[in-house]
Amino acid sequence: MPPTPANRTALLDPLDPGEWPEEIPVLIVGGGPVGLSSAILLAQRGIETLLVERRSFESRFPRAHLLNVRTMEIFDEMGVADDIYALSPADENWRKVAWYTSVAGPSPEHGLKLGEVPAWGGGVDAVRHAQASPRAFANLPQIRLDGLLWAHAEAVAPGRIRAFHELTGVEQADDAVVATILDRGSGETRRIRARYLVAADGGRVSAELLGVEREGPKAIQDVISCYVSTDLSFWEGGTALLTHSMQPSGNGRPVGALQALGPHYYDRRSPEWLVARVRRGGEEVSDDEATQLRGIRRMLGVSEDHPITLQSVSHWQYEGVVADRFRVGRAFLAGDAAHRHPPTGGLGLNGGVQDAHNLAWKLAAVLRGEAPASLLDSYEWERRPVAAHNTAHSLENAGRHGPIGAALGLGPGVGEAEGWKQIEIFASDTAEGERRRAAVEAAVLENTNDYSQLNVEAGFAYVAGALLPEEGSEVLSGSPTEFRPSARPGSHLPHLWLQHARGATPTAPVSTLDLVDPRRLTLLVSEGAAGPWAEAVAGLAGTGVPVVLRPIDERDSAWRDLCEVDAGGAVLVRPDRKVAWRTRRLPGRPRDVLEDVRRTVMAGGRPCAEDPAAPFMRRIRDAAAALSAAASR
Ligand SMILES: Cc1cc2nc3c(=O)[nH]c(=O)nc-3n(C[C@H](O)[C@H](O)[C@H](O)COP(=O)(O)OP(=O)(O)OC[C@H]3O[C@@H](n4cnc5c(N)ncnc54)[C@H](O)[C@@H]3O)c2cc1C
Repeated sequence: MPPTPANRTALLDPLDPGEWPEEIPVLIVGGGPVGLSSAILLAQRGIETLLVERRSFESRFPRAHLLNVRTMEIFDEMGVADDIYALSPADENWRKVAWYTSVAGPSPEHGLKLGEVPAWGGGVDAVRHAQASPRAFANLPQIRLDGLLWAHAEAVAPGRIRAFHELTGVEQADDAVVATILDRGSGETRRIRARYLVAADGGRVSAELLGVEREGPKAIQDVISCYVSTDLSFWEGGTALLTHSMQPSGNGRPVGALQALGPHYYDRRSPEWLVARVRRGGEEVSDDEATQLRGIRRMLGVSEDHPITLQSVSHWQYEGVVADRFRVGRAFLAGDAAHRHPPTGGLGLNGGVQDAHNLAWKLAAVLRGEAPASLLDSYEWERRPVAAHNTAHSLENAGRHGPIGAALGLGPGVGEAEGWKQIEIFASDTAEGERRRAAVEAAVLENTNDYSQLNVEAGFAYVAGALLPEEGSEVLSGSPTEFRPSARPGSHLPHLWLQHARGATPTAPVSTLDLVDPRRLTLLVSEGAAGPWAEAVAGLAGTGVPVVLRPIDERDSAWRDLCEVDAGGAVLVRPDRKVAWRTRRLPGRPRDVLEDVRRTVMAGGRPCAEDPAAPFMRRIRDAAAALSAAASR
């Protein structure tokens, strides 16, 4: 049973766990965060689903932990945000990333702090984050998040979330996907017809079964992740959630990273930790406890008898792959099944949940008969360029640590003893020491492109798809850190607190984002122009997805400047809070214009003449080549 009491109301008719429908509207493969989010989002839209997971839903392998503001908006819609915030520490301490040589060790150069940056909406970034979204960044290790999502999915879709069942085959028919499911307990197989299939299996089998190529470099660097319990409360410097360790044996790159896993504190008081070590060529890979503990103690610089309990060991690799297609017939790839990249940037789980959100409202609209099936093509046109961008950016983030090592005096060919001497010079009270400290500080600050990447997290846009694009749209405009809200079609609707919206109180205003209807198109207009727009909405044909009108009080007119529309203008917003269309002023025949716009949006638009992912695929290859070269030295 799920780990927390399921206090949510069922949104779908319960299924007996032994009951297998022969046909289901949507079959979801994979019970990671992306599959479970898909199940919840579809249940909220009244779509019947069945989810199969080859294992159980409990994970002993720590992976993601950072949930960005756009993901938290989606989790809020799913009804899980409050539970996440309750488990995510409210204090500022975890919103920091540091670079150290080690935690402790025999010389003054061990346990030495090299630098620190605020991260994930902390420090000076708090204001910018609050301007971008009504929801705050959260930190909840995936080992706990997955169980929470499972409990919610089981509660809203009772009996439809099934462990120990594995997809082993897929056939496409004109009107359905026929999936073969293996019951791993009994060894029996059964075939299920689904109108649509969401492949959220992390990339293990679906790509192969569907004939999808995963483009981009694989096996760039090997990493060993150890989940441990140990007491590091003696470490005065341990005030960050994530600490990178720079030592001579890294040849100028981090030897690994130490991440606090809580559960209650996410700094030196944390009882649980993830110790991720980069595996050098030729290094022992044995998972036996003694070998792993030796490697961990060496990286931390603690003594041979410092108590450490090893909970689990996992091996993974840096890769930068993006599926060449996100849709094959009636099957859709989402999350790690569609894109895999290093965790530098924390965009994997976040990007996957955003895939699920993009797909859910479209599947629901098509299955409800409110949109033609062509709407579903827009999933790939919208999400694949963003995935390619995020993959390139994550690989580039991984490369931002090298300059820190170089500024310290570390690099290939600098041996162990010589390396520690270089660190001694860095720490020395000399002109050279001062020069190196300034160079390290500058190199550390470059990493704000990773840890303060608000524009990457909140500012990406769709350049083609279920929208009416405007001239000059870009997947990401400006630097990774500089977020500027925009109501250009394809962008996320800008957030603004409305003091005079219905339900707003002086202490609890309503966000523009909260005006968006999760099942229908929402038309935002000024109260003063509500009359003609209300007539236009009332005159729309009864078929097709409904449009709901949300007039905004004239006293909250700042929304018009933010969205660049005048008093008669309007912004049409999709259920996923992306702008589909805007008009700066009231058009001549608003009903006809709106009818045309609705038809175009719900038909899914058109792809770009040139693949918008192509420039990012080139950046992926360049960044991966640089990382591979550094890893092989
Ligand atoms: C060390 C580390 C740190 C990370 N940190 C972050 C972070 O801070 N932020 C972030 O956003 N991302 C992070 N990530 C990435 C993140 O963990 C993944 O992107 C995320 O788990 C992907 O979710 P998913 O649901 O697509 O796939 P998964 O979590 O891999 O789930 C897929 C599920 O499908 C199941 N499955 C596989 N094959 C089948 C089959 N044939 N039939 C049925 N079920 C099947 C699997 O058992 C699995 O449970 C990190 C990753 C690592 C390794």
